[in-house]
Amino acid sequence: MPERMEPVKCPKCGKDMTYIQPCHLRCMSCGAEYDCSDKGVLW
Ligand SMILES: [Zn+2]
Repeated sequence: MPERMEPVKCPKCGKDMTYIQPCHLRCMSCGAEYDCSDKGVLW
């Protein structure tokens, strides 16, 4: 099972984030967005 699409917890609110694209995450709870430039820090 590929690990690249594993669920990522939002660092702001702790909810599971949603993949909009493989390198683009959005939190549907608080609206935070992250991409691959943040990857080393967040997931
Ligand atoms: Zn959030």
